[in-house]
Amino acid sequence: MNRPQVLCISGHDPSGGAGLQADIEAVAAQHAHALVAITSLTVQDTRNVRRVVPTAPSLLAQQLEAVLDDCPVHAIKIGLIGDAEQVPVIVAAIRRAQVPVILDPVLRAGGGASLSGAETAAAMAEWLLPLAEIITPNAAEARRLAAGSPDLEACGAALVSQGCANVLITGGDEPTAEVVNVWHRADAAPIVFRRPRIAGQFHGAGCTLASALAAQRALGAPLALALDRAQAYVHDCLSRALRVGGGRLVPGRLP
Ligand code: PLP
Repeated sequence: MNRPQVLCISGHDPSGGAGLQADIEAVAAQHAHALVAITSLTVQDTRNVRRVVPTAPSLLAQQLEAVLDDCPVHAIKIGLIGDAEQVPVIVAAIRRAQVPVILDPVLRAGGGASLSGAETAAAMAEWLLPLAEIITPNAAEARRLAAGSPDLEACGAALVSQGCANVLITGGDEPTAEVVNVWHRADAAPIVFRRPRIAGQFHGAGCTLASALAAQRALGAPLALALDRAQAYVHDCLSRALRVGGGRLVPGRLP
């Protein structure tokens, strides 16, 4: 039995809400197999992040080489990057694999704690954004990556002009009645996705979306279909969210 395989490059969250557990569950729910290279161990609960300990770049390189030497990879999903020194290691893996790259530019936890410093964010923007097929920032991340314009449409256009082929800005944390996600593309009008808002605050929704999207691309769905399916999947996960701890709810990724 073969399943399409997604190489997830991400951090570990002991609450199981975000990070590599989110990736594994979301990929498995699409009937694909997750391979996981760990960029960092975090200390966090469902409320907030207390500490991020990056993996040594050489250890990350060895993890990536081990799986790329042995396993076919059909898509890559990148989540939390431990530090700027990991970026060239990740670039080498992308160049080697030659598959669609879905980049979730994780900068800050929903609880407010910073997950990536300025140096890591700058290295990611310079080296990884242009290699990604699509990036999936939330509104706050899009504003930070696009250097502060409050207008999300302008942020999307700025990120496309910085070299991102496709940008999906997610609006789950915006104060709107519906959740509005907007797909910005070069040389084409943006496409707006609207869904009814599910009440509650969630931990790990972004990881879930990017991983489901990567799995759909690994399965061969064209990007537009993959985006539809991944967003519908996240909506379902939020509608059956789990109360894992005292903080944010965790998407119910496995039905
Ligand atoms: N911890 C890790 C390891 C993550 O990868 C992420 C997001 O991708 C987070 C925490 C933050 O998740 P959230 O913003 O949903 O709380």
